[in-house]
Amino acid sequence: MPNKPPPKLARPRIVRTVAALRRSVMGYKAAGETVALVPTMGALHDGHLSLVRLARRRARRVIVSIFVNPAQFAPHEDLASYPRSFDADLAALAKANVDLVFAPAVEAMYPPGFALRIVPEGPAKAALEDAFRPDFFTGVATVVGKLLIQCAPTIAVFGEKDYQQLKVVTQLARDLDLPVKIIGAPIVREADGLAMSSRNAYLSEHERKAAPTLYRVLKDCAGRIKRGELPARVLDEGGAAIERAGFTLDYLEARHADTLRKIELPADAPIRLLVAARIGRTRLIDNVAV
Ligand code: AMP
Repeated sequence: MPNKPPPKLARPRIVRTVAALRRSVMGYKAAGETVALVPTMGALHDGHLSLVRLARRRARRVIVSIFVNPAQFAPHEDLASYPRSFDADLAALAKANVDLVFAPAVEAMYPPGFALRIVPEGPAKAALEDAFRPDFFTGVATVVGKLLIQCAPTIAVFGEKDYQQLKVVTQLARDLDLPVKIIGAPIVREADGLAMSSRNAYLSEHERKAAPTLYRVLKDCAGRIKRGELPARVLDEGGAAIERAGFTLDYLEARHADTLRKIELPADAPIRLLVAARIGRTRLIDNVAV
């Protein structure tokens, strides 16, 4: 018997305007279908695709947005060089059985005369990412607020990789009374422990070899805190190990996993350890549960 050809994959529908997006979503909703949104900046890797798979399990229709949001990049950051791979992204999303890709131009999201900023507080002012990227969460909250209103999804999936962002988005949806459930998805890692990130492509061979140190140190610190050692001391030593590996440390902190408030004792559970560090021209972030 000749082999059957593989089933033809339906390419996701690509929409570029809010009006076209709304027409599709209205169709889904009129048919009584649930809708999941997975917001991304493209340059998709297995971390993004795990979010898509989670969305697939939880909703009838899956929308992935691809938008490199200028509002969340500071002038000195990597907006111009941020990796873009739209064709490869589309192929991966077709394979993952995504229904619709929303890929607006910058002018469709921020037309001339656009005059809104959503300035989040609470978890956005935890003195973690916000201490090093002061306007980042304003850019994130503004674009995610728009995306949630434009897509009106039943659920929206965000990665724990960007742990503070997940908390900011959860608070945003709650504070705006948006009828959406925000779902966090676990971090997907390379075999050596490095958290997958579009920015890993910036790493030189030498930097790539040093990069798994972040996860190794996080795991080691988490184990020691779990066994009762004082977080302050454990994190001091962890920070030194990260710098010895060639990084400049922005922060290595133990925070309450829900509120992100500072914690001092191992008993202040649940604890999340969060790190950000720079190597060469690349800034990496990661986090683990204790
Ligand atoms: P980005 O395209 O970097 O804005 O990421 C889009 C979404 O994918 C965000 O919710 C991220 O937290 C999530 N994400 C990125 N990398 C990973 C990863 N390694 N594991 C899980 N989620 C991730």
